[in-house]
Amino acid sequence: MDTSFIKSAKEHQVQYRNFLKKANKNKVLDILPDLHEEAFTHVDCLTCANCCKNYSPRFKMPDIKRIARHLRMKEVAFIDTYLKLDTEGDYVVKSSPCPFLGSDNYCSIYEERPRDCARFPYTDEDVLLKQPDLTLKNTTVCPAMYYVMERLIKL
Ligand code: SF4
Ligand code: SF4
Repeated sequence: MDTSFIKSAKEHQVQYRNFLKKANKNKVLDILPDLHEEAFTHVDCLTCANCCKNYSPRFKMPDIKRIARHLRMKEVAFIDTYLKLDTEGDYVVKSSPCPFLGSDNYCSIYEERPRDCARFPYTDEDVLLKQPDLTLKNTTVCPAMYYVMERLIKL
């Protein structure tokens, strides 16, 4: 994966923070769907998988039920095998990279993956504005988030 965005994202954190503080919410929400789509024409998750390698999604109970059923495991066995509780009381993977990530960067439970995975990096949601600290962190993890922020600050 091309990691050159990480250095640039770190250098632009103040600019991003200032943008997020003053952003016109409606204008940003209007343009996000297009920027989101544009970002993923430039970025290929299968050559990246940075999120799956470094972070865990939250496994909420509906996720656990769905994935355990898919794997034909009892929910308790699924939790015991793969998950632990984090400091906020959410289930997360016991170890990184995620155990469902293949060496080819495919997710072995893609159709049933946790909702958090499907939403990440929140480039088409108002979470981008509502949780600035998360957005800033994600610019240094996810090239698509970086792409969207770079486009936003140049509007
Ligand atoms: S969502 Fe972002 S960090 Fe995750 S694989 Fe795709 S480009 Fe990489
Ligand atoms: S469940 Fe799949 S998409 Fe989610 S972190 Fe694991 S490998 Fe990535």
